[in-house]
Amino acid sequence: MLLREKTRVVKVGNRLLGGSNPILIQSMCNTKTKDVEATVKQINELEALGCDIIRVAVLDKEDAYSISKIKEKINIPLVADIHFDPELALIAIKEGVDKIRLNPGNISDKEKIKEIVMECKKRQIPIRIGVNSGSLPKDLALKPESFIEAAKRHVEILEELDFHDIVISLKASNVDLCYEVYKLAAKTFPYPLHVGVTEAGTVFKGLIASSIGLSKILEDGIGNTIRVSLTDDPKYEIWAAKEILNECHLKDNVPTLTSCPTCGRTQVDLIPIAKAVEEYLQTVHKKIHVAVMGCIVNGPGEAKEADIGIAGGKGKAVIFKKGVPFKTVDEKDVIAELKKEIDLF
Ligand code: SF4
Repeated sequence: MLLREKTRVVKVGNRLLGGSNPILIQSMCNTKTKDVEATVKQINELEALGCDIIRVAVLDKEDAYSISKIKEKINIPLVADIHFDPELALIAIKEGVDKIRLNPGNISDKEKIKEIVMECKKRQIPIRIGVNSGSLPKDLALKPESFIEAAKRHVEILEELDFHDIVISLKASNVDLCYEVYKLAAKTFPYPLHVGVTEAGTVFKGLIASSIGLSKILEDGIGNTIRVSLTDDPKYEIWAAKEILNECHLKDNVPTLTSCPTCGRTQVDLIPIAKAVEEYLQTVHKKIHVAVMGCIVNGPGEAKEADIGIAGGKGKAVIFKKGVPFKTVDEKDVIAELKKEIDLF
């Protein structure tokens, strides 16, 4: 049994997290939570791309009281990210939030923690404890054991109150450290783990760091939910998370795109075609292999492996289905034709 399968199962709104349930993809809105319209729009766009759970920052009462209004217009579970202020947590819970990201050890009022835990228990709302390399307690050195110790300090408060619907994240921005931390965490805690490399960077650097870190963690059988943290539009976090899970053979309904790098032989403007197909495939949730190849030298061979493919010619492209030429179309019609064939597949 994989380590991720040994964890407790918690309910997050209409999804199950942990155990042998599918690994869920998460992201966080970068809108102001009190701007309900913008937040709802972003959440629904992310859901269409494949986001399973979404988190919003709750900084004040106006944010907290926006939760029910947001929830009315979205389908995926909503997580409130709260630091230090127990009142905001209590409002978020009463507003119908599906999960809370809160570190109880940062709240000094023990009675308030009890109240939060009681309310969460009543409504079956899990609490995610999050330890980041940037916020390790000052008495702990930057090493794997310290992340575990820091998480334990929060977990024990909840366990003493007989609360076990816990999810834990322990994110480091250093890839090697992050991997070591999660290996240790998976052996230590019986709770589902939210995995990711924190503050990974902008798209270019962040994707590389997250791909290396997450593939090692996931392939060790660790992680029940993932976030690819990127300094960009959160839609790229979902693109990347799906791609990583697909490459690790951990998600079934993700398309695969093969495209050639282009060279002196290319006689169609292939890069915009490949980018348009890539963007379109983000909204497609089925297993399909699409190949976008620049010429007939390698094109047909690669396209043969694909369910649908193109091999460019001079201002034209041949469309292949399972390696068999299907029809020839003008360069200007390639994207529309490919989209049509993807839909029909
Ligand atoms: S498939 Fe053709 S166009 Fe694309 S890189 Fe290879 S040789 Fe060049």
